[in-house]
Amino acid sequence: MRNFEYVRAATVPDAREAATGRPDARFLAGGTTMVDLMKCGVEAPSTLVDITRLPGLDGIEVGTDGVRLGSLARMSDVANDPRIREEFPVLSESLWRGASEQLRNMATIGGNLMQRTRCSYFREPATYSACNKREPGSGCAALEGVNRGHAVLGTSASCIATYPGDFAVALVAFDAQVVVENGGRRGISADDFFLLPGDTPHIEHPVAPTEMILAVEIPASAALRRSHYLKVRDRESYEFATASAAVGLELEDDGSTVRDVRLAMGGIATKPWRARAVEAALTGQRLDEQTVRAACAQVTEGAVDHGRNGFKIELAPRVAARALLNVGGIL
Ligand SMILES: Cc1cc2nc3c(=O)[nH]c(=O)nc-3n(C[C@H](O)[C@H](O)[C@H](O)COP(=O)(O)OP(=O)(O)OC[C@H]3O[C@@H](n4cnc5c(N)ncnc54)[C@H](O)[C@@H]3O)c2cc1C
Ligand code: SF4
Repeated sequence: MRNFEYVRAATVPDAREAATGRPDARFLAGGTTMVDLMKCGVEAPSTLVDITRLPGLDGIEVGTDGVRLGSLARMSDVANDPRIREEFPVLSESLWRGASEQLRNMATIGGNLMQRTRCSYFREPATYSACNKREPGSGCAALEGVNRGHAVLGTSASCIATYPGDFAVALVAFDAQVVVENGGRRGISADDFFLLPGDTPHIEHPVAPTEMILAVEIPASAALRRSHYLKVRDRESYEFATASAAVGLELEDDGSTVRDVRLAMGGIATKPWRARAVEAALTGQRLDEQTVRAACAQVTEGAVDHGRNGFKIELAPRVAARALLNVGGIL
């Protein structure tokens, strides 16, 4: 058993101070990932800073300029909020399709963004020592291993693990900002928040241990109002994505020409993957099945098959097209 210090913070500055000078300190929000990772020996923080009692961080604010979600808002509270469900479907759907009801009732928005990969080699240090994400320089057991669930985009010779979350895919599609407290405040675009593995897969985001996520802000847009999250997985609930798509659409007044389109993919890449080439190919085009399917073929351009995950290269464009045709009212 490993000892660690447990600190319950009353304010954000208290919490940050408790983590200062301890690079291996971790915040504890819902605990649904953190405690798991401590049990399997991946995380071994010297200090666990409980932030669950911090006041004022669980807000769900809906204004004319967009949505602001406090980092301690529960996944289920956001997913079930009637304003989010009706006006911004992709936000509700991407949360609602993640994890299980029990987990969503505990888990927070901030913790959801910071969850770590489900690569089984990463999560089993007692069995597999080769994992560059867990132990830099040790190698990657997945490259020659069971990699059916791994990424085909954004991979490197060091790591091919997928980013596992659903909600972040919607955030990347709709240009959200992650607001971080570091003494002052800074906003990080959701797309820049998740880092490609390169040769430093252990560095997953630009947030220092003393920085705390305060909120995520999603700007209002017509495409966000006409949006959808489609998740394909091995079973219908309580499962991570094999491939998923967060989409949004705004049409011109003629009702058929694409004015604005958003597409980001989950389950297939090392970070939530914005499909800008598909967006560019569809903008200004008439929305019909043939055009959508042709554009979506570009989703996996440059993808790499690692042996068992090659089926995702065929699957992902179909998931993207189905989501877009669905939100466009064609399927
Ligand atoms: C069996 C299972 C299935 C799951 N399936 C899915 C799924 O299908 N889709 C999906 O998206 N997710 C899934 N999840 C992941 C789940 O959504 C996350 O566990 C959850 O969102 C984490 O939130 P939390 O509040 O419990 O975070 P915690 O476990 O408390 O923290 C997670 C990490 O975030 C950090 N952190 C938390 N809050 C902050 C903050 N405000 N600022 C800075 N750092 C912070 C912690 O230090 C820690 O490193 C699943 C989890 C389990 C256990
Ligand atoms: S894919 Fe990444 S997380 Fe998985 S074993 Fe390789 S280095 Fe580790």
